[in-house]
Amino acid sequence: MSGRNFLFIPGPTTVPRRIQNAMNIEQEDMRALDLPEFTKPLYEDMKKIFKTKTGRVFIFPASGTGGWESAVANTLNVGDKVLMSGFGHFSNLWIDLCQRWGLDVQALAEAWGDGVPVEKYADILAADKQHEIKAVFATHNETATGVASDIAGVRKALDACNHPALLFVDGVSSIGSIDFRMDEWGVDICVSGSQKGLMLPTGLGIVCASEKALACRAGSKLPKTFFDWNDQIKTNDLGYFPYTPPMNLLRGLRASLDMIFEEGLENVFARHKRMATAVRAAVSAWGMQPIATAEKWYSDTVTAVKVPAGCDGNAVVRHAYSYYNLALSISLGKIAGQAFRIGHLGDMNELMVLTPINGAEMSMKDLGYPITLGSGVAAAQAYLCATAKPRIAQ
Ligand SMILES: *Cc1c(COP(=O)(O)O)cnc(C)c1O
Repeated sequence: MSGRNFLFIPGPTTVPRRIQNAMNIEQEDMRALDLPEFTKPLYEDMKKIFKTKTGRVFIFPASGTGGWESAVANTLNVGDKVLMSGFGHFSNLWIDLCQRWGLDVQALAEAWGDGVPVEKYADILAADKQHEIKAVFATHNETATGVASDIAGVRKALDACNHPALLFVDGVSSIGSIDFRMDEWGVDICVSGSQKGLMLPTGLGIVCASEKALACRAGSKLPKTFFDWNDQIKTNDLGYFPYTPPMNLLRGLRASLDMIFEEGLENVFARHKRMATAVRAAVSAWGMQPIATAEKWYSDTVTAVKVPAGCDGNAVVRHAYSYYNLALSISLGKIAGQAFRIGHLGDMNELMVLTPINGAEMSMKDLGYPITLGSGVAAAQAYLCATAKPRIAQ
């Protein structure tokens, strides 16, 4: 097939050439004398992405799901009461994981399109006078619905009643793309992965733990070997690993962090907001809406576009792939068919973000859905032109 493929799903995301080149290396000795010169700054720099000074980063040869597992296995115990909320595929998978680990899960079922119910959390925590709830879980960015939640608000709810529960955050599709503040928000564990905002292939489960979370290791009796934080700490402190590290991915992560720091983390967030706003302008010009039910929930990394009644969002995805070599993302679970998703995170710029809008428009037109060709593209273009800044002074 001629021409390139277009990947606009919310992970894995496009891996920029610079990162591909950084990973395209000879295999190397993971016990090399000079490896700590590479690994120690890498871990320090990863802390900057989480905005933590006091936390510790763990990097597992895994995906985000492995990061979740390590978070639970190293800090909690069977029967521990935890407060969670489900409002999409990923927040529900996290609930399932905690249930399988034997935690006593109180899971609030929220509408798909809403986010973490901060007020309900506040009421439940305030009523928990005996402090039986050991941890509160929040999915920062629900990738299935394109909903971003208020993590600072969850911290406020905990502080308002002086509740000592740990705060666990799923940041798999937000870290490196949407502002996240580990220390300022008093987050105890944040889980991420390599294949979304960090622009790498899948294969790294990245976890950041606060001192308070680290202190829970002593009391946690859940079984673990591969995901044991203690083994990581012992070897990571020397610049090494308890088992064979995925060196290519770690070299890629170095390049990813270099790119993010060169652009500036805050500029990366602002760019994501701008790309997302362009997509939302297109959605609105189509006469459609995001699945996210309110502006405060809008995600800057992924938009789930609700298609009109009688249309099938997943048919749009199949058509775009089949006809135009464009990967959009299907809608899952409760909203299966009601939407298609556009991933607009990671290595993304103006002309790139117009592509999934363009392809979705053409696909919807082909399918006979009510759409005016060019309407979404024009709206996104107008927004991008109105907010354009030169990359290079002329
Ligand atoms: C992608 C994703 C996950 C799962 O991560 P894997 O790397 O696929 O294991 C979890 N949570 C969210 C919010 C995600 O977007």
